[in-house]
Amino acid sequence: MEVEQLLCSIDGTLKDALEAINRGKKGTTFIVNERRELQGVIVDGDIRRLLLSGKTLSDKIQENLNPQYVYMTEKDDAIEIIEKFSSKIRIIPIVNESNQVVNYYEYNKRISIPVSKPELKGNEFKYLTDAFLSTWVSSTGKYIDMFEENFANYCGVKYGVAVSNGTAALHLALLALGIRAGDEVIVPDITFAATINAVLYVGATPVIVDIEKDSWCINPDEIEKAITPKTKAVIPVHIYGQPCNMKKIMHIANKYNLFVIEDCAEAHGAAFEQRLVGSFGDISCFSFFGNKVITTGEGGMCLTDSEELNNRIRLLKDHGMSKERKYYHEIIGYNYRMTNLQAAIGMAQLEKIDVMLEKRNELEEMYRTILGSIPFIEFQYILEDRQKIAWLVTVLVPEHMREICMKELKRAGIDVRPFFIPLSEMEIYREYVFSNQNSVELSKQGFSLPTSLDITSEDVLRMKEVLAKLI
Ligand SMILES: *Cc1c(COP(=O)(O)O)cnc(C)c1O
Repeated sequence: MEVEQLLCSIDGTLKDALEAINRGKKGTTFIVNERRELQGVIVDGDIRRLLLSGKTLSDKIQENLNPQYVYMTEKDDAIEIIEKFSSKIRIIPIVNESNQVVNYYEYNKRISIPVSKPELKGNEFKYLTDAFLSTWVSSTGKYIDMFEENFANYCGVKYGVAVSNGTAALHLALLALGIRAGDEVIVPDITFAATINAVLYVGATPVIVDIEKDSWCINPDEIEKAITPKTKAVIPVHIYGQPCNMKKIMHIANKYNLFVIEDCAEAHGAAFEQRLVGSFGDISCFSFFGNKVITTGEGGMCLTDSEELNNRIRLLKDHGMSKERKYYHEIIGYNYRMTNLQAAIGMAQLEKIDVMLEKRNELEEMYRTILGSIPFIEFQYILEDRQKIAWLVTVLVPEHMREICMKELKRAGIDVRPFFIPLSEMEIYREYVFSNQNSVELSKQGFSLPTSLDITSEDVLRMKEVLAKLI
């Protein structure tokens, strides 16, 4: 809208001001003199208060102007603007050097950018409605079968079992492989807590090992060093969209006869030597939480090429109930089922996963191009043997600068998320540490930038402006 629409002459009456507010449809009018110099701001609430205090609409604006009002000059930068907005102030006039109104800022959603936001503009609502109207709202229904089959297909794996969330998928994987008390399972120090918690759920002992400096993923050499006669499995986590070195990990697993459970919660569609993650391990686990590459609200999936493991996971996730004999329970199972409603959303997300991954890649490229000129910023390495995806675009800055970078970005309305805290730095997991040198070092330097599909180059330029000031 043109700023003209928001102006009102100081020579007018309160009625004129009210008309200007009405015309501009923004609840505000900027009061100017004949040279267009800003004299004050009146909002609809001001008029209401004046009328209640006994003024009338024919009273002059001149005598009723509040001397305190907020304005900006053309030179003010983004952060100062955002600081001036409050729950009451939504529109701020901008003046030039001669105090003439030239434009205005309006508070809108884009002022605040979240770290992540699902994209639900495809067939999500349509399929969800379809599932709803079918009355198959629980864990039976066509979308469950479709989602399992199609997602497994997408990853190049034979069987998919949809479950209630990614943590349940990890728990089921460990149960299905028979991991239990007395066994050791190797996990990376940098991951979401669900990875290690699942190991503890089955009573096994987690062994936390260090990550690689370049990939930020579990270091295969450290896996080998941590192996004992009790080691039964390893859970490589493809972190922030970066695939682990699956060649080395599979080699070690074969050599020492270990199970491999891939934690793919952050890397749908990523690949190692052109082969998709999730297709290497005995079982791989995905999450479809709201901030993951595709979402079902809450949800997860186990993938496996083994018919036996597929059957076992299905049994475990559905109360251990016999397939042949209903309500006869063969083992103590769980209720870790996904609903048809969730799977309906999942199907719509899966239809466009490649398009969404491509857009995420373009966003990461844009970040690398625009923020790449800031000397203290380092991105996650792109390694020749792996095709990473952009889950959360994550950067490293010198340790002493991380807090100020995050603070300034947040002050400018850009939400950022700190790097994972190493498991080894949390009281409840400390006793399980084997090695953690790189993880401790890197975690103090990293944070994730907003990574959702509607982020524009203007947004990234705004981030650059904020960060460039810190050089
Ligand atoms: C998100 C995540 C999980 C857990 O997924 P939920 O669906 O939230 O239970 C597990 N591992 C990693 C690495 C994750 O990022």
